[in-house]
Amino acid sequence: MKIVERPSPNHDSRDGQVIDILLLHYTGMPSGEVALEKLCDPNAEPGRVSAHYCIDEDGLTYRLVPEDRRAWHAGVSSWAGDSNINARSIGIELINPGHEFGYRPFPEPQMTSLIVLAQGILTRHGITPDRVLGHSDVAPLRKEDPGELFDWRRLAASGIGVWPTDETVIGEMSGDLRDADGDMAQLQKMLHEYGYAVPLDGILNNETRLVITAFQRHFLPDRLSGTPDAATQGQLRRLLDGRRHSSGSDG
Ligand SMILES: [Zn+2]
Repeated sequence: MKIVERPSPNHDSRDGQVIDILLLHYTGMPSGEVALEKLCDPNAEPGRVSAHYCIDEDGLTYRLVPEDRRAWHAGVSSWAGDSNINARSIGIELINPGHEFGYRPFPEPQMTSLIVLAQGILTRHGITPDRVLGHSDVAPLRKEDPGELFDWRRLAASGIGVWPTDETVIGEMSGDLRDADGDMAQLQKMLHEYGYAVPLDGILNNETRLVITAFQRHFLPDRLSGTPDAATQGQLRRLLDGRRHSSGSDG
C-alpha cells in the first residue's frame, strides 16, 4: 500500500519491549491537517504526542513514527494489569473530529486502508486478536475513541481483533443487574479477566460505570447504556469463552 512519509520528532526508545498491542484512536481535532500538525509538533501543549500512523478519511495513510520506536499516544492507560502501553503498542490515529467536534462515521476508504495496514502490523509482530484495542479500552476513565461508530465487527471479519460469534441471545436479554450484588462483583471480575482496569469491590460506582461504557463502545455499540445489563454480561462471557477456546487450540 502507498504510505506517505510525514516524520514526527515525538518518539523515543521502546527499551527492548516486545510489541504485542495494536491501539486504535480517532484524532478528535477540528480538521485532519490540525491533527497531523499536532502529532508532529515538538512544542505541543500540554504535552507532545504522536502515533505510528495516521489515516485520513480519504484513505491516505501517513507514517509518522517508525514501528521500532515508541510513539506517544496512549497516555495514562492500562491493559491486563500493564500500564506500559506506549512501549508495547503500535498506535494508529484515524482522522475524525470525534465526540467534541462532530463525530461521524469512518468512511469506506479510511476503513479499507486501516484493514490493509493493520493486517501487515499483526503479521509483522504476531499480535493476537484480543490485543487489538481502542484507546477507550485502555483508558476508560479518560477516553472515548475510536468510539461507538467504529466498526469493530467488520475489522474482526477481516482477521483484525475479536468479535463474539454467537449473538443470538443478546436480543432476548433485557434483565438489569443493578440490584444483584453478586452479579455486579461477577461482572467486574469478568471485565478484569478480559483486561480492563476495573475496581473489584462489587459496587456500581462511577469508575465501574465508565469501564462498562468502554466495553459497550467496543462490543455492544448499539446498546451504549453504561448500565450493567444482561446483554453486557452475555457478550463478555462469549468473549472469555472464545479466548479460552482459541488458547486451548494451541495446545
Ligand atoms: Zn486516542
